[in-house]
Amino acid sequence: MFHRFRGGIHPPDMKDATRHKPVEALPPPARVILPMLMHAGAPCEPVVRPDQEVFMGQLIADSKELVSAPIHSPVSGRVLAIDPYPHPNGSRVLSVIIENDGRDTPHESVHPKGSVESLTSDQLLRIVRDAGIVGMGGAAYPTHVKIAAARGKCDTVIINAAECEPYITADHRLMLEAPEEVLGGLRVLMKLLEPKRAVIAVESNKRDALDALRRTLPGKTKIELTALRTRYPQGSEKHIIKSVTGREVPPGKQPTDVKCAVFNTDTAAALHRAVTTGQPLIRRIVTVSGSAVANAKNLDVRFGTPLIDVFNATGGFREPPAKVMTGGPMMGAAQHDLSAPLVKGCNALLAFAEADVPLPGNEICIRCGRCVRVCPAHLLPIYLYMNERKNRLRELERLHLEDCVECGSCSYICPGRLHLVHSMRTGKQKLQDAKREAG
Ligand code: SF4
Ligand code: SF4
Repeated sequence: MFHRFRGGIHPPDMKDATRHKPVEALPPPARVILPMLMHAGAPCEPVVRPDQEVFMGQLIADSKELVSAPIHSPVSGRVLAIDPYPHPNGSRVLSVIIENDGRDTPHESVHPKGSVESLTSDQLLRIVRDAGIVGMGGAAYPTHVKIAAARGKCDTVIINAAECEPYITADHRLMLEAPEEVLGGLRVLMKLLEPKRAVIAVESNKRDALDALRRTLPGKTKIELTALRTRYPQGSEKHIIKSVTGREVPPGKQPTDVKCAVFNTDTAAALHRAVTTGQPLIRRIVTVSGSAVANAKNLDVRFGTPLIDVFNATGGFREPPAKVMTGGPMMGAAQHDLSAPLVKGCNALLAFAEADVPLPGNEICIRCGRCVRVCPAHLLPIYLYMNERKNRLRELERLHLEDCVECGSCSYICPGRLHLVHSMRTGKQKLQDAKREAG
């Protein structure tokens, strides 16, 4: 039994190009580029120096700030340089550049940490922090901070396996090929958070993934598997909570305010590996797809691999792409420099041919009201847009802009081709800037 949320859309899922293709491991490149910002929160500082020898899994950067996540070398080799380098966020970020020696010699810190049963909750939390694990659905929020904030406050833990963005099948393949890692990660979370309910929530278009998880479950377990209706943005944190529990996260509040904590599928697998093998977060599964890609694939990629190398591993481009994105087409970010490296929150690389990229046109609102009908956050996107354009910040607050989950449903549905979601992001930035200036 699941609950429905209001609004949302049903875009073509475009997943056929990769959903049946097993994940292939991409050999790491000759040089990896590791930006000091691979996560949400404070950037790290390097703890290695140029010319230093490093090993796979070795800590190379850390921060004393609470909201941050350490960074580890995904290869063994030598530090070539520590310099600013293009980042997928469009800026240049201080990066540790490592020459790969091709040996993958593991660092001495990489070893099994013990069974979940034998470790205390505090020891597990330390392992999560030291492994540099972040939310891998895109937000890249440090997982140890999220767990620490939820301890003692939640009765339901949800593994978000909705993967509702078009094109992306990375989590789907993970559940099919390594269901034990997802379940193992959920057991780590259950030990840490002691919930009454533990649920893996999958959209109903991935029944085979549910079957794979079900076959892997032990006979007696309190873990629930739930098939949710296929509807975008089912994978948004607030909406998956509503679908699984019927609870609504109030405006301006967090999942813990309704006693819930939500973690991505690949994050769960990373938790399992950090405990059972001691491997920190140095790689992830990435869906490479889109109409300009020669041969769409799911690849297991080490962090720091240049985006162009990831595309080339699929056979390159069919034709020069008119648009390249990290993340899905609804919530992802456009990329302009493919020498930038893969970072922790990037679950997809998409490249689109010219015919699939809408031409810029005049933005005209025809007052059809569709954006209001589809908004799953119960907002009035057109009014938010108009107020953002006129810098009416008080109105943006009054209309609860902070509740926008930036799902892009309003932009997708708008016949007037208004850049609504862009306006929501800009409006949020303006509000943040105004608050900072006000001290
Ligand atoms: S969907 Fe677009 S055209 Fe329709 S009311 Fe909203 S902004 Fe205007
Ligand atoms: S206003 Fe925000 S939450 Fe509502 S549809 Fe647009 S992007 Fe999604």
